[in-house]
Order: sequence, then structure tokens, then C-alpha cells
Amino acid sequence: MNQAELQSLCIEAGESEFRGVQLFEWMYRHGIVSFDSMLNVKKSFREHLKEHCIIQTLQVEKRIKSKKDESIKILFRTWDNHFIETVSMANGDRHTVCLSSQAGCALDCSFCATGRQGFERNLSTGEIIDQLIFVRENIDQPITNVVFMGMGEPFHNYNNVLNASDIFHSPKGFNLASTRITISTAGLLPQIKQFISEKRRYKLAISLNAADDRVRNDIMPINKKWPIAELVNAGKEYSNQKKRLVMFEYVLLKGINDSENHALQLAQLLQGIPCKLNLIPYNETDGIYQRPEEKVITRFSEILYENRNEYLVLVRWSKGQDIDAGCGQLAGQKI
Ligand code: SF4
Repeated sequence: MNQAELQSLCIEAGESEFRGVQLFEWMYRHGIVSFDSMLNVKKSFREHLKEHCIIQTLQVEKRIKSKKDESIKILFRTWDNHFIETVSMANGDRHTVCLSSQAGCALDCSFCATGRQGFERNLSTGEIIDQLIFVRENIDQPITNVVFMGMGEPFHNYNNVLNASDIFHSPKGFNLASTRITISTAGLLPQIKQFISEKRRYKLAISLNAADDRVRNDIMPINKKWPIAELVNAGKEYSNQKKRLVMFEYVLLKGINDSENHALQLAQLLQGIPCKLNLIPYNETDGIYQRPEEKVITRFSEILYENRNEYLVLVRWSKGQDIDAGCGQLAGQKI
């Protein structure tokens, strides 16, 4: 529930609107999950809340720490027995939490472990928020960034993802700046356009992964509906309207989209588009794809860098690969 919903709940129960603000702060700013601990709320109302409401929605099934870096993957179980994963990635002063927005995913990108699982259901706003509350309360480093890059296509769960983001952004909630919240989509064009028209200014990432429609059709079937040129244009519109750079993500798959020619095509595609380009060497799962060799990755990024114009190039060496917590590896496994 957001603040307005909590206020209505209080009014319906014969309490003042202000009680709703108190509940909001207890839950989202202080991470209190027990009504008994909400000491400035009178006892009779706490009893009423205990009878009618729940705070925690997810059960923790497993928590595993990488041996190679500071990443921690948490496996949660929902009330109706779906499994979702969240990844905490601490690195110096930065602590990024990668959240899931759905159990499974309908988009079937061929390189993604979640896609192979198929769609189960959307997560509620509460289930999205609960992932972040758990990380905040159990991992001893302040959260600096949230990315919707875990399981699911966030724009297929548009309202709940945006409602959760608003609570992350609220000063009475998690107090994260809008630049610290990134929503990543595989390319749902109508929702991207809707997102651009919003007053909200969260960051947008588009998972591109190819500069050629034939390649993208093969690895991301959604491309047959909304092809590359339309997505890149929408990205440009986002950058221009929001005065904030759209991020294009490009997962490098050996022998599929990692040649020098592919790099030149990509550089050509992004000419004149104000954006960031994030190159992500593929994290191998038990699928059919492989990660390119390091020298291929380096050459690919050099070509993009040499030909850049208006865009920035970053190579993201994913964290947490040894615990299957890297990009494209999340599958809600009962490890
Ligand atoms: S990459 Fe994202 S959109 Fe594609 S199947 Fe995986 S979770 Fe879904």
C-alpha cells in the first residue's frame, strides 16, 4: 500500500489520516514488520491491524554468498509457492539491489534462464518492496541503487513496478533519488511511450542485444512486434524529453552478436543518439550460448569506443556468476 491507501485504511477503521503516515514510515523508512513495535500507534488499533493486515509477504528460502565478490543471492518463496530471486551487489560505496518483478517471464528471450521457465504471475507491489526491505534489514551496507533487472519483464507489471518505485523514491519511504532507480525493459514499445509521458523520472534501460533485426528476432522474439529502429527512436525520445540518458544493454553472446561487424553495426545504429551503452559479457547457464573470449569482448568494446558519438560505453563484468546471480541467470531455483 502507498501512503494514500494506508490513509484510507486508517480512515475506514475510524482513525485519523495521520495514522496512515505513521504506518508508512514504520514500514518503509524503519523496516518494521511487527505491528507491536509501532509504538506511537495506540494498542487497540495495533490489535485491529494484526487481525486484518499482513506486512511481510515473502518467505526466505535460501541466501547464498559469492566466493568471488560481495554478491549475495536471496531465494524467496511467495505465499502461493512461486520462487523468485533478488541479488545484492555491494562494491565499495555502491550497493545495488537487483529486483524481480514477476515470477517467471512470458518473453522467452533465448539466452535467459527466467525466460525458459515461462510466465507464472506478476508480483504484487508488496512482494517487490519486500525484496528490498529484506536486503536493507539483513545486509549491512546502505542501499544506493535499485535496478529492475531480475526475473520478469517490469513493463508487463507496469503499475506495481511503478508503485513500488514511488515508495522507494519517497522521502518517508526509502528516500532513493529517482536517478538511483532503473527500470529495464526488453522493449515493450507502448509501455516505453507511456513511461516517457509520466511525470516520474526513473531511469530507463532497454535490453537491445543486437543491431540487426534478424539476429534480434532469433534471440528476443518480442522484436518481431517492436523492431530495433522503433526502440532506438523511443530511447532517443526518452533522453531528449527527460534530459536523462537512456541506457542500452547489450549481452555479448559468442558467435551470435559479438563480431567486429556487429560492433560496427551497433556503433552506426547509435550514432547521434544520446545514450549509455552497457556491454554485458554473457553469463553461461545450462543453455546453448557461451560467453565470448576476453579478447573478443575487449575488441568489441574498443570498436564501440573508437566510433562513439553522443554515447558512452561501459563494459559490465557481471557479479555473482559463481552463484548464478549474473544477468540472465536467475531462475528461481530451489538450490
Ligand atoms: S531477459 Fe528479461 S524479458 Fe527476456 S526472458 Fe529474461 S527476464 Fe524475460
